[in-house]
Amino acid sequence: MPLLHPRELLAEVPWDVESKVLGGDLSLYVHVPFCVKKCLYCSFPSAPMGPLDEELYVDALCSEITSWAGQLKGRKLFSLYVGGGTPSRLSCPAWKRVFGCLWRFFDPSDLQEVTFEANPESLNISLLKTWMDLCPIPIRLSLGVQSFDDSDLLALGRPHTAKDAKRACDMALSEGLSLSLDIMFRLPNQTIRGFAVTLREAVKSGAEHLSAYELSIEDGTPYHSMNLSFCEDGYVFYRYLQWYLAKKGFLQYEISNFALNGAFRLHNLRYWLGGEFLGVGPGAWSCIGGARYRNASNLKGWARLVALSGKGVDFGEFIPNESRRSERAVLRLRTIWGFRPGLEDKRVAASLSSLCDDLVQLNKDLDGSDVYRLTPRGFRVANRIWEMLLPDC
Ligand code: SF4
Repeated sequence: MPLLHPRELLAEVPWDVESKVLGGDLSLYVHVPFCVKKCLYCSFPSAPMGPLDEELYVDALCSEITSWAGQLKGRKLFSLYVGGGTPSRLSCPAWKRVFGCLWRFFDPSDLQEVTFEANPESLNISLLKTWMDLCPIPIRLSLGVQSFDDSDLLALGRPHTAKDAKRACDMALSEGLSLSLDIMFRLPNQTIRGFAVTLREAVKSGAEHLSAYELSIEDGTPYHSMNLSFCEDGYVFYRYLQWYLAKKGFLQYEISNFALNGAFRLHNLRYWLGGEFLGVGPGAWSCIGGARYRNASNLKGWARLVALSGKGVDFGEFIPNESRRSERAVLRLRTIWGFRPGLEDKRVAASLSSLCDDLVQLNKDLDGSDVYRLTPRGFRVANRIWEMLLPDC
């Protein structure tokens, strides 16, 4: 008998969220490339902030926003996500300048969601209040906690402690914010027992959304050249994660994301369900008008491109139809909403049909059409399924 998503949790899924998410106009991602220090495993575009970097960044960011706004005149914002790096590294006056520019050019009257990422060591109450004052709707906070165990945090090279993380959670909740935590698993020397403590603290923290990622060792990071010891297979951690969070009432609505009481992230759903989004700042990606663009990831290189052409884009491509279809299937299968194959998706549908039913379920949608959904076990082995669906990967 295949293990299915818990029936009582599935009953909470608003199946019509797709039309809400895709019916919205534009989603905007703002990348902040600064961190207190570089973590040992980090391959993201981020670095400690030099003395003149904040001004260079804000000037270039405002120019890039202005330039895109000229091209996307009349578009309304559906969602805004401020990520990094560490957005809480930027000062309050810098945020006032950025938002002054943003609201001058982008209409927020249809805005459904605003999220700020922050890290525990640099979050403070005046910054939180500034963000809340600058936004026309309540904001959500996504906190980079990663672990509630100080030995894990030390091994990752994170600049905060478990106590800092708890203080930051309490601060956000005392301001009435909706809180999401990022946590990681399969860390060096981490045991299932240690991970269970982190998960228990995450649930106790009052967060209504959790994102959980397995540590991956990337080329060019200090971790890549270190001799690290990992105790257990990532699969075991992931299975525990799914079991424990379901028991606590969190719905796994995406491979790495779990929501309590329907607190889904609409902005991220735009990525997975195939909506358009614009990214500004170093290293940000955009997907607009059937093409995707990547900004230069180095702060000075990006700022130079913005000064030359108004945008920091250093790569762009039109996405061929066949790739677009496979990518769409993979992105949608990451979610509980699943993938509804059209006539042109025969190859992908045939591959999915060949999988056993404890990996993929074929259901009928409300309108009678076929919809494929990965089961909890399918989520656990998703990378192997993607290899089959994306022939070039
Ligand atoms: S806080 Fe995040 S973005 Fe910054 S260095 Fe650490 S892992 Fe990288």
